[in-house]
Amino acid sequence: MVVMDNLYFNEEHLMLREMVREFAINEVKPLAQKIDKSGEFPHKSVNKMAELGLMGIPWPEEYGGTGMDTRALVIAIEEIGKVCCSTAATMMAHTSLGTGGIYYFGTEEQKKKYIPKLASGKMIGSFGLTEPNAGSDAGNTQTTAVLDGDEFVVNGQKIFCTNAGYAGLITFTAKFIENGESQGIGAFIVETGTDGLRLSPPEKKMGWKASDTRTVYFEDMRIPKSNIIGSPKSGFKQFLNTLTAGRITIGALSLGTAQGGYEAALNYSCERNAFGKKIADFQGVNFKLADMATNIEASKHLVYNAAYLKDKGVDVIKEAAMAKLFSSEKAMQITTDAIQLHGGYGYIHEYDVERFFRDAKILEIGEGTSEIQRIIISREILKTVKSYA
Ligand SMILES: Cc1cc2nc3c(=O)[nH]c(=O)nc-3n(C[C@H](O)[C@H](O)[C@H](O)COP(=O)(O)OP(=O)(O)OC[C@H]3O[C@@H](n4cnc5c(N)ncnc54)[C@H](O)[C@@H]3O)c2cc1C
Repeated sequence: MVVMDNLYFNEEHLMLREMVREFAINEVKPLAQKIDKSGEFPHKSVNKMAELGLMGIPWPEEYGGTGMDTRALVIAIEEIGKVCCSTAATMMAHTSLGTGGIYYFGTEEQKKKYIPKLASGKMIGSFGLTEPNAGSDAGNTQTTAVLDGDEFVVNGQKIFCTNAGYAGLITFTAKFIENGESQGIGAFIVETGTDGLRLSPPEKKMGWKASDTRTVYFEDMRIPKSNIIGSPKSGFKQFLNTLTAGRITIGALSLGTAQGGYEAALNYSCERNAFGKKIADFQGVNFKLADMATNIEASKHLVYNAAYLKDKGVDVIKEAAMAKLFSSEKAMQITTDAIQLHGGYGYIHEYDVERFFRDAKILEIGEGTSEIQRIIISREILKTVKSYA
């Protein structure tokens, strides 16, 4: 681990890891089973994360952030994800999706107005791209924003919006219509509480149970023209760029989820006896543990490398997709094996491994399914082959 730390992280990153690990173990872990069962939003942990500066890690200090970077965000998500995926997902979606679009593409005025509130955790951010007929095919957005004088009139709906029920603002995409003609897809900000914005009750889910997920309905909702993010016709491209950064953070949560399952299985293997010895003494068990550890190590290199390159200003579309694809699929496999190593107890709620298993599945789906990551990666690879172009 010392070698890997030296490759990707500096002293400040390592100190952050220690601080977040302590917070996660002492304050997030004790609540994890309870909020998984009740589905209640992790208010207490969100407030504490806000106090610790964890709701605005990668944003510059001038906007109220901690002035750190993507690697620092990855570390925080990984450490919290090791104990509670719902809490990590809440912070992750708020930061990389809810705030990221404004930081990367917003006007100076929008950044000054919103980022300090978001970074301090006083306001929670949400992100609406997916619609009933626009998931992987997000370009098929049906929501419309019709320009009417100094305002947009918005109609449509966004499904599966993480944090929407507790958000102070939602960024979303819609077809930008001017003089009756579609001009492309724009990205917009709406403050919750705006007339014409309605929320569904929270979705009941397989995992991430304490993470809030809702449909957001826009019904003749009026927002000021100044709420458009960046270039009016480039909203879709901007959201896709925001998702590239978001995929690194899904990679980080995959690392946390996988390690949560693996560490429980490793400890259990050293405690559980069968046929007169520890199950960790059976070669069949050793092989599983070895594969789990190897896949976690490989995932770390992919995720940390994508974050490192992003911090260096490199376009990481391929690296982020590879990190997300590999680490999420390995998280699913590792948490499945963690249950297997627990035998029947692994199937019982009391043991954390079944929660990690349920929390892992969404990692292969959200922010672009595994199939979509393979499409992105192959497109990037083929670009470099002269005979193909
Ligand atoms: C808990 C949760 C939280 C979420 N949070 C958010 C959020 O905050 N904001 C937001 O905007 N969205 C969010 N989502 C939505 C999520 O990003 C989408 O569900 C995901 O992108 C897949 O879209 P879809 O569900 O419409 O599936 P579909 O696009 O309908 O895909 C169905 C299947 O078809 C496959 N498929 C589709 N196209 C292709 C293709 N070209 N080639 C091969 N296979 C293909 C897919 O890989 C998948 O297996 C969330 C979803 C969940 C469940």
